[in-house]
Amino acid sequence: MARRVSARAIKALRQYTYDEAARVLGVSVQTVRSWRKIGLVVIDDQKPHLIVGACLRAFILKRSNKPTLRLRAHEFNCLHCGTARGAWGGLADYIPHTSARGRLEALCEVCEGKCCKFVSKSQLLGLAGFLSVAIRNGAHA
Ligand SMILES: [Zn+2]
Repeated sequence: MARRVSARAIKALRQYTYDEAARVLGVSVQTVRSWRKIGLVVIDDQKPHLIVGACLRAFILKRSNKPTLRLRAHEFNCLHCGTARGAWGGLADYIPHTSARGRLEALCEVCEGKCCKFVSKSQLLGLAGFLSVAIRNGAHA
């Protein structure tokens, strides 16, 4: 799940390594690395790679200003495309987490990246007309 991150602690004129940026923002190093793939500018012609504070701050502000995506029942928030997408082939897998809720997984119809969202069992029934859902075995199936 995307968590709101505050850019306030970032100093515009400082340069940060992935580790430093992660520590200041309270996110994992993996998260900071993944931001690079979705537009964070990184100085990568040297080791360690550095992120200019101003760029990091701009990136975070741009992300947090994005309105929350309102998904229709059969849509997923594709993190690769950065928007709502349908499921590839109208197919999805439901992996129960508890007796009432589970994770719905599908591939993005545009980029074929993996998308998932949490749904309740009752929401799952409402999807029958839009998606062909395979129920996979989970601990509470
Ligand atoms: Zn996509």
